[in-house]
Amino acid sequence: MELKINMTIVLEDILKDKRRVALGGHVRPDGDCVGSCMGLYLYLKEQFPHIHTDVYLEGVPDAYRMISGTDEVKTEISEDGAYDLFICLDCGDTKRLGFSQPLFEEAGETLCIDHHISNEAYADNNYIVPDASSTSELVFTLIDREKISKAVAEALYMGIVHDTGVFQYSCTSPETMEIAAELMRKGINGSEIIEKTYYEKTYVQNQILGRALLESMLIMDKQCIVSVIRERSMRFFQAQPSDLEGIVSQLRQTKGVEVAIFLHEIEPQKFKVSLRSKGVVDVSVIAKHFGGGGHVRAAGVMMSGSSHDVINNITARIALQLDHVEKQDEE
Ligand code: 5GP
Ligand code: MN
Repeated sequence: MELKINMTIVLEDILKDKRRVALGGHVRPDGDCVGSCMGLYLYLKEQFPHIHTDVYLEGVPDAYRMISGTDEVKTEISEDGAYDLFICLDCGDTKRLGFSQPLFEEAGETLCIDHHISNEAYADNNYIVPDASSTSELVFTLIDREKISKAVAEALYMGIVHDTGVFQYSCTSPETMEIAAELMRKGINGSEIIEKTYYEKTYVQNQILGRALLESMLIMDKQCIVSVIRERSMRFFQAQPSDLEGIVSQLRQTKGVEVAIFLHEIEPQKFKVSLRSKGVVDVSVIAKHFGGGGHVRAAGVMMSGSSHDVINNITARIALQLDHVEKQDEE
């Protein structure tokens, strides 16, 4: 498939003659998804007031509600007719748009801004940079930095913080830090954003994290760690899917482990699988093999079957990659 990636996208040109614009992110929006969508939404409202702009996101997690404009987010489609332009942010494929996918299909023109390596450039215009730390960083590069307000800066900063694990993951480049610095100069309270949206956990979130850690198992000669949270545990703790964010990263921190596998049972025989690796295994390839996607070090996929089947299928693909690395080392 020929990729239609345009690295010289000029937002002003794409917005020319557009009167109604919609923004949308992926299902179960994370910090970067909410940050990039809200950052661009607020910027368009401030700088292009003649354009009617809407933002569509599945329920925004409470922790991100400190970002301006999150109370204006549309969680369902109203019957207002097609948009001139639909902008997808942080979304690796159209299916992941979830309820807003019909708006994408019906829009006069589409633009995709994303950093997932698995993204196959599905929109009319595509600004896809897999090396970028986050979609929020990409939004920063598309807008006029002189015109970034404090509210826009807060949203983009949150997105960068989340997808870099607070400037820790290998996707954090010198440019990422420079962008973060420029956002800080807009007068934001960076520490508060990090504390309130990233580190702070509700009691329920900590309880379910504890359960996942307690019941985790080391497998494949201690190279992998795996944990499963069942539907009945979600009910017991009265937890939401967004309460599970951060569990897989915590599992990966286990000393000596290369890959962390976290299974969330959505319904009987159906799991949301999260994969994280430390340095050798490319988990985006594994997720993509089973119909999902993501990044080299962080990816996800929906899988059916028993938890044993799912774990066996995933670990077989991990073993292939680890064997390959071992062979290369021997050569
Ligand atoms: P998480 O494990 O936190 O849900 O996702 C890790 C990364 O993989 C995120 O960047 C997310 O967008 C991506 N991802 C997670 N699940 C899926 C999926 O089912 N399909 C695709 N294409 N990407 C996914
Ligand atoms: Mn992202």
